[in-house]
Amino acid sequence: MATRKPVIGITPSPVEDVQPHGTFVRYAMSANYTEAVEAAGGVPFVIPPQSGNIDDILETIDGLLLSGGADVDPALYGDEYVHERTYGIFPLRDQLELALVREAIAQDVPVLCICRGIQLLNVALGGTLIQDIPDQYPTDIEHSQHKAGIPADQPGHTVTVTPGSLLAETYQATSINVNSFHHQALREVAADLVVNAVAPDETIEAVSRPGSTWVLGVQWHPEMMFRSHSEHLKPFQALVREATARRDKN
Ligand code: MN
Repeated sequence: MATRKPVIGITPSPVEDVQPHGTFVRYAMSANYTEAVEAAGGVPFVIPPQSGNIDDILETIDGLLLSGGADVDPALYGDEYVHERTYGIFPLRDQLELALVREAIAQDVPVLCICRGIQLLNVALGGTLIQDIPDQYPTDIEHSQHKAGIPADQPGHTVTVTPGSLLAETYQATSINVNSFHHQALREVAADLVVNAVAPDETIEAVSRPGSTWVLGVQWHPEMMFRSHSEHLKPFQALVREATARRDKN
């Protein structure tokens, strides 16, 4: 039986880097993600946007983490317009993540999807998104908590957890205090997914895929909270545990 730690593939965000000799794209990974995976006992492994190579990437990793970032191209879920606050569309990242998550699910690789990740997961399986919460789903809950001056490692709202769900199993809780940095959210949930948590305004905050061993999406950022609120290490520990179990089986 293999004794190495499981490798967790994480997708980064493209950022524009303006230099005197030109403007270049960098693929940036917040240290919060890699440190959370390390703290949970996994080996973080960054997967930059690329076309193809999906099978080779999946042979290399034991678990997949779709990170947060800018918005998914609305054309991918059938919207014929781009809302004025929809930003940062980067087709190569969308393409990589759509192909990776679909094939990971086909191969029953465990997947954790964070913020943009839960939205990408939903789109990959046929769901749709609210392009801008303040405009299209007016609510008293502030889902961009920095506008209320709340630090990233502190909770901005609660979520109510669906009893018996994968999220309930993962956090061992009926309610979770979460942070919130999203102007988009799930609208129609993909047929294969089930809601695992909602905010007080019914915004969908977590989903899982019951047909898979372990596929979880959360709208909050546990990687920003696991140091100050240790329960938020649990999704990373569960991902690493499932990645280890799957690797030992194959
Ligand atoms: Mn929220």
